[in-house]
Amino acid sequence: MITGTTKLLGVIGGPIAHSLSPVMHNAAIAHLGADFAYLPFPITPANLHRALQGFAAIGLTGFSVTIPHKQAVMPLLDTVSDLAISVGAVNTVWRTETGWSGTNTDVAGFVAPLKGLTHPWEEALILGHGGAARAVVAGCVQLGCKRIRVVGRRPDALAAFQRSWQLVPPVTLSVHSWAEVPQLLAASNLVVNATPIGMHPHTDASPLGQHWHAIPSGCIAYDLIYNPSPTRFLQQAAERGAIAQDGLEMLVQQGAVALELWLQQPAPIDVMRRSLQAALGLPTDR
Ligand code: NAP
Repeated sequence: MITGTTKLLGVIGGPIAHSLSPVMHNAAIAHLGADFAYLPFPITPANLHRALQGFAAIGLTGFSVTIPHKQAVMPLLDTVSDLAISVGAVNTVWRTETGWSGTNTDVAGFVAPLKGLTHPWEEALILGHGGAARAVVAGCVQLGCKRIRVVGRRPDALAAFQRSWQLVPPVTLSVHSWAEVPQLLAASNLVVNATPIGMHPHTDASPLGQHWHAIPSGCIAYDLIYNPSPTRFLQQAAERGAIAQDGLEMLVQQGAVALELWLQQPAPIDVMRRSLQAALGLPTDR
């Protein structure tokens, strides 16, 4: 119930109508009985600075940041976490006594379903080098991967991606063309699809095309896509005896970390997961 004391949270992006964050966070807020409401705010790049000034003026508690503002918001914040600086993107902002603070919870979201698994985190293969791939690289470092291979189709963009990382030895990051994927797959303990290939409605597509037979059994295949679940890539991985992980848990867990920052209490992760599954028309039995 919204009352005279209700505090405001939200998500900024453009477009924002497709965002599942309001569904997930309001389900959590209702479950906790917290005196908060979470709204979508469509903000254009030209209005970003003014939007933050307005948020400060109305005492917004915090907000999520999505495309296209994850990088542009950084210079407008008073403090940015080291993790967000290394990833080069902020997805969560909260108000402090001295101004806005920002961090990146996508990394924690990516790592969450893998934490605690006994697995040889030696070599990771990341398909794609966009915004989400940046969180995946940081996550692979946290997991203890030594060799991170990143695949893309634009050599200049790949080279820029590689230059943007200053990793501490023994961790190395190399960049590769798609033609090298079959050979790279053989040595990979973790294969991550950080492209939109296979996302609804293009559900027959797989980023590996005909090379999926090269997925090593026993590796972890992680698709950041959460609709459909499983994707074609994850079906192929399961057929090869790999462990399949879809992107829903990343979405849930990055949101849970953000909510805990705003509300200063544990997030109801099961409620958040079920709200997303219901919104996506997925079975809510896990
Ligand atoms: P992005 O910044 O647009 O990056 C997409 C990457 O995929 C780029 O490297 C792009 O290469 C590549 N790519 C796109 N289409 C391709 C194609 N047909 N062939 C080869 N490469 C292609 O997107 P993003 O924000 O990183 O998101 C990537 C995926 O992760 C999306 O499916 C998104 O929904 C998902 N995601 C999930 C979560 C989660 O919480 N589960 C969070 C964030 C993102 P070019 O630059 O050459 O086009």
